[in-house]
Amino acid sequence: MKSDYRTLDLRPYQLVHIVAVLGANPGCDAGELDFGSARLNAAVREMRALAYVPVRLRANVTSIYAFQNPGHDEDTEGGATLNTARDLDILQRLGLVPGATMPAIDLFDLLLTAMPTVDDIVGYGEAVPARWAEGPAATADGVAAMGGSDAAEAYRKGVARGLGALFVLRKSEEMARVKQDSAKAMLEAKSLRIRPHHLMCMTCFYGGREGELAPIEEDNLCEAIVAMQRNPEIPVTLVQGPCMICPPCPYYDQAANLCYLHVGIGLRDEKKDTDVLRLLGLDYGDTLPAKDLLALLYERVPSTKLVCGYKDGIERGPSWRICDNPEGSERYRKGRAQGIGVVGQS
Ligand code: SF4
Ligand code: SF4
Repeated sequence: MKSDYRTLDLRPYQLVHIVAVLGANPGCDAGELDFGSARLNAAVREMRALAYVPVRLRANVTSIYAFQNPGHDEDTEGGATLNTARDLDILQRLGLVPGATMPAIDLFDLLLTAMPTVDDIVGYGEAVPARWAEGPAATADGVAAMGGSDAAEAYRKGVARGLGALFVLRKSEEMARVKQDSAKAMLEAKSLRIRPHHLMCMTCFYGGREGELAPIEEDNLCEAIVAMQRNPEIPVTLVQGPCMICPPCPYYDQAANLCYLHVGIGLRDEKKDTDVLRLLGLDYGDTLPAKDLLALLYERVPSTKLVCGYKDGIERGPSWRICDNPEGSERYRKGRAQGIGVVGQS
């Protein structure tokens, strides 16, 4: 898999600035807006071209994190102390450290979720000591960063616009067309390609519907269950990454065959996949009849706590959030007990 991405360097305050500019210009396409400097405009263009381009957050600090100091070229007015205080405020609110690197769309998703307002961030609503402005002069490199309550209000409006204001997201008409085609392909297939933990999601889907199985727009979980119910012997190959269940998913990038959004969804899914493979003693590429694969799953994985709850049920950060009950999904318990209408049927 390709791993030679170019990394964009941004200051934490520049994340807030980008969202505030979007909020101050409702209805405007991010690709046509001026974010205050040629470098920021180029960064926004890159994020729109590749939503998961890595972004590294750099801030001027004096501790052992100084290895990543960006220099003061893009400090805004207000003095060096204000610039450091504001960047540290934002990093702290995001639970990140200077130098942290994340895919752009995950980073902005985290920003919008963890920081819906900036009123209590230094330089926006939070009071700034007058002495700070007397410090070494800032050399703002054309980044006309907004500050004060105007920026806080614009930021709030930018947050309300959501990720679609900055990134190019899937269109609902396209997802609906893909849903139709991929659901048909699943129901007509002679064999299935499924990522390992999706066998568990199928079980939660079945258990949560109390016998009222019906397709949904967002994925092909229902169709996968129906394909297995119609032919419990259908060969299922365990695949790495998105699978036949994924094409209509709002988080799916069909061209790249990757999923993103929802802060770290691809990460969590890969961990769940490798955990399921480990518990089943299988690997990617292995193929088993559906009913044997599910029987093995239900024997070895009695609860989602072992996979989705990371064994101890402790959520350690936004990228590692736990789906459903940390102690185990009731939907999975019910679906497993009924073998999703595939295992234990005579
Ligand atoms: S609890 Fe786990 S298996 Fe169930 S839907 Fe969530 S991710 Fe899938
Ligand atoms: S989040 Fe990813 S793995 Fe899950 S259904 Fe969507 S595309 Fe597939």
